[in-house]
Amino acid sequence: MAKCLICKRKIESLVAIGEQCICRSCEKQIIGMKPKDKGYEELLLQLKPLSKMILSSYEKIEDREEREFEE
Ligand SMILES: [Zn+2]
Repeated sequence: MAKCLICKRKIESLVAIGEQCICRSCEKQIIGMKPKDKGYEELLLQLKPLSKMILSSYEKIEDREEREFEE
């Protein structure tokens, strides 16, 4: 069982970035967050070491979804 990078709860691997995982609720939190929101900077700090991996993995997910949508 993996641990969520943000809230540290034990989760099944939903969003895996290398060995790091983010649970569904934290994923929603990140996606819905705006730079003015409270906790945004804190969240960025938690994610900073992984930001490049996260971005590249999201790009891959988007690519896959776009391709599936076209088919
Ligand atoms: Zn979480």
